[in-house]
Amino acid sequence: MAGPKQGVVEPFRGDQPRGMVDDLVVPQVLDLENTDERLWVPQAEQVSFRPLLLSVTQGYFVNLLRVRRSGVLSRHRHAGPVHAFPLKGRWHYLEHDWVADTNGYAFEPPGETHTLVVPEDVDEMVTLFHVTGTYVYVDPEGNAVGYEDVFTKLEAARNHYAEVGLGVEYVDQFVR
Ligand code: FE
Repeated sequence: MAGPKQGVVEPFRGDQPRGMVDDLVVPQVLDLENTDERLWVPQAEQVSFRPLLLSVTQGYFVNLLRVRRSGVLSRHRHAGPVHAFPLKGRWHYLEHDWVADTNGYAFEPPGETHTLVVPEDVDEMVTLFHVTGTYVYVDPEGNAVGYEDVFTKLEAARNHYAEVGLGVEYVDQFVR
């Protein structure tokens, strides 16, 4: 069988498979100085997130997390894997020696419980997180005190976008 012909530029002529969801493109997500503040959904005091993809079919979400205070952010246990790309500032877990620093990458394994801390000299931390499954907020003994998943993120974003005038349907563009 012959390989692709050199120099021929042509699109796929067939049909995409039935049931396939739409692709999703969000411009300028890494341009942190230039974002519409309304897109940031408050999550706690000085903590907000911006949804990029809310996968209700596979149970994961991709979002930017922005923290404008230092200290302990949360202690939580992950049921699924997490991929983290720190874009601004840095943070670490009390349970580890490593630091998630700007332009780096960190993987958090399913099953791990850890306590996220933003150092005192960091005014603002922004990290792109790809979070699969649920994470459960826990006390130091591991007792569950709350949880987050794609559905809590969807609900929070939905309510926030309605409140700031973007409309309750605004979040739908990020849902797959
Ligand atoms: Fe985590």
